[in-house]
Amino acid sequence: MDLTYYSISALINFSVSFLLGIFVIYKNFHSRLNRALFFWCLTVASWSFFYFLWQIESQEPKALLWTRLLMLGAIWVPIAYFRVVAIFLNIEKEQKKFIYFIYILSSIFTVLLLTPLMVKEVDPIAGFQFWPQPGIAYAPFLVMFLGVSAYAIYLSVKALRREKSPVKRAQIIYMLLGIAISIIGGSTNYFLWYGIPIKPYGNIFASTYVIFTVYAIFKHHLLNIKVIVTELLTGLIILVILFEVFISKNTFEFVLRSIFLILVTVFGYLLVRSVNKEIKQREQIQRIAKKLKSANTELKKLDEAKSNFVSIASHQLRTPITGIKGYLSMFLEGDFGDLDEKQQKILKDNLDAVERMVKLIDIFLDISRIEAGRVQLTKEPIQMEDVIDSVMKELSQLTKDKGLKLKKDIKGKLPKVMIDREKIRQVIMNLIDNSLKYTIKGEITVKAWAKNKKLFVEVSDTGIGIAKDEVPRLFVKFVRAGAGAKINQDGSGLGLFIIKGMVEAHGGEVFVSSQGKGKGSTFGFSLPLTGAK
Ligand code: ADP
Repeated sequence: MDLTYYSISALINFSVSFLLGIFVIYKNFHSRLNRALFFWCLTVASWSFFYFLWQIESQEPKALLWTRLLMLGAIWVPIAYFRVVAIFLNIEKEQKKFIYFIYILSSIFTVLLLTPLMVKEVDPIAGFQFWPQPGIAYAPFLVMFLGVSAYAIYLSVKALRREKSPVKRAQIIYMLLGIAISIIGGSTNYFLWYGIPIKPYGNIFASTYVIFTVYAIFKHHLLNIKVIVTELLTGLIILVILFEVFISKNTFEFVLRSIFLILVTVFGYLLVRSVNKEIKQREQIQRIAKKLKSANTELKKLDEAKSNFVSIASHQLRTPITGIKGYLSMFLEGDFGDLDEKQQKILKDNLDAVERMVKLIDIFLDISRIEAGRVQLTKEPIQMEDVIDSVMKELSQLTKDKGLKLKKDIKGKLPKVMIDREKIRQVIMNLIDNSLKYTIKGEITVKAWAKNKKLFVEVSDTGIGIAKDEVPRLFVKFVRAGAGAKINQDGSGLGLFIIKGMVEAHGGEVFVSSQGKGKGSTFGFSLPLTGAK
């Protein structure tokens, strides 16, 4: 058996169309399109199979039989292809009459195959031992072959013009490209029939349109240039090497090139796969990012709605409670008559509870103002030392009760600073209050100094300290450090958030440091010194 480029290319055409046929029918047997594709693949496969047998045949009668059998495939290829195109373009109904007509024509040519009217005999020509000679029915067959293919192309181009979906357009373009290549390549088979000395050089391309069409219909990354270019280049390189294998001069070259071909095919496959994977991942990330973005806006809206709700609810709560608080203190002071000890105690407890409530409501109001960016400041030039003194005085009893020391350390005479006195007083109060809460023994020092056009205030203590990894998130709403939460179970984790909000509303910054658990902590803030004399 003598393998030539012609027999091998026939074998390749056969394998490609046969395997793709199996693939499409395996994918979905029930789809009309898949069944049409399958039938078409079979016609191409049977044509190339008998082409192969014919090429390797050494006896004349058998060669004649193979050529007639290969013609059987060839006769049914155009109508099979036309049906694929018609179903794909959704014009099968419109083309029904034409399809029937071609079916009848193809059946007539099939019957004629039994006579010498299609293939008369086989004769030697241009190095081929048994090239077929056409009967008178061969020319009409050729007209049908080219006519049906041309009509399919015409209908595809027409559909392409109307088509808006980019994916479907890409599919049609692929199919057109495929049939163009196949017709140019495959038509080299016809010249020798009429004695024109052009050998079937393009035979290898006869199955290209099967590949392109199946690819276009089943591949999902059609629009991705990167994948397509990689695939096309890989395919081209493989084709070139395949060609080199065929034209090998000796066995050594043949083996070497075949090994090379296998290697390139494997690596090409891996390359295409990785590019594909990369693109899939990128698409997935894009999808997730999009989802996250919309989830985020949704959350922001919810958060805003919640803030508004809290703000409204707090305002509504504050008015009646302030009234209750007022009456309770009047009762306690004896404005409505004398009270005995028991009554006084009950009233005192109630007043404490109401005061805690007012504080909590104020916290919620502060938070909603901070979050909405609506903190209102009444600024005036203030001497910070006065504020510190007043807070220390207010907390002196509490400090003594806890057995702690509260010290002041002011460096030189501080310049005045433009601030809202009440708000900054609240900040310092909360800082010292925290130190009192989270210090069991030792002392608390309040420092203040001016440097680089900023005024610094710092409260440090010898308390429970903060674990290093917890420090960065302390100023976040509701965040509490582990050690602190253990000591003071009633905390809310809102104090530092409000401190930060108030300081930042003044254009200042907060800071915190701790050497770790049990080693004390330092909280403080700085305020810009511009604007005050
Ligand atoms: P709360 O004190 O109500 O928990 P804060 O926002 O004032 O809320 O404080 C947040 C957390 O920071 C506290 O739970 C505590 O763990 C930690 N913390 C604040 N001040 C100190 C301090 N002086 N020493 C140790 N830990 C502190």
